[in-house]
Amino acid sequence: MWLVVLFSFGFLLGSVLGSFLNVVARRTVAGESWWGKSRSRCDTCGTPLTSSELIPLLSWLVQRGRCRTCGAAIPRSYFYVELVCALIGALVTARWGQFLPESVSNGKALLPLLLASIAAYSLYLNALTDLYSGYIFDLFALAPGALGLLLRVGGGEHALIDGLLGAALGYGIIACIILLSRGGMGWGDAHLMAGLGGILGWKMTGTALYFGFLLGGFWAVLLLVTGRAKRKDAIPLGPFLALGGIAAILCGPSFLAWFGIASEWPWNTL
Ligand SMILES: [Zn+2]
Repeated sequence: MWLVVLFSFGFLLGSVLGSFLNVVARRTVAGESWWGKSRSRCDTCGTPLTSSELIPLLSWLVQRGRCRTCGAAIPRSYFYVELVCALIGALVTARWGQFLPESVSNGKALLPLLLASIAAYSLYLNALTDLYSGYIFDLFALAPGALGLLLRVGGGEHALIDGLLGAALGYGIIACIILLSRGGMGWGDAHLMAGLGGILGWKMTGTALYFGFLLGGFWAVLLLVTGRAKRKDAIPLGPFLALGGIAAILCGPSFLAWFGIASEWPWNTL
């Protein structure tokens, strides 16, 4: 029952944040400001959207993917961006919130869920800007990491050092690849992994990199085999690093335990 509550709550929160992060990503890529009062508008007729047209997932379904004013098609991607974020929210909330009632007594019960959520949603935002423009923005990559380090103070000195090591590991490995390969990867990827490392700590950061390279490599082989890419084509790695990070948040501790490696705070609490 508790899992169903968590899953539903995570799904709702994820769909709202997915809608918001999509606006943030699109406006940032277009060079517009996403804070302040400017309302979302129809891309075709420019009519400001009312609140009933801004309900994540539902509005698109009810309006059958069309603008209420001019009837122009609203891209299907808007719906899928919200749906994927809702599913990520549901999984992350269920994974790290499941033992919340029992662990409330130690007073630090919310930190694993909070850190996991910050990591997952910021990865999603960075994956979106990378997909839309091929660019990862320093602020979106690094600010969540700084917030993660701040929250790690709650876990003590060891947890803070673990976060700093994670940031160094994430940045260092990508930086080495950039310097050795001269192309293919950008410094945005290094900043992305530095920020993620600050939240995850070094063991989970290593796991995230492993998953990310595995998924990216698998995709590259698939593109080569099906003839949709040539050997020299560069494949953007950011979205795969983000996917690897989310996979690590969901199954990193189990993956590490499989190799007999103990997880560090706060991932060892459950
Ligand atoms: Zn319209």
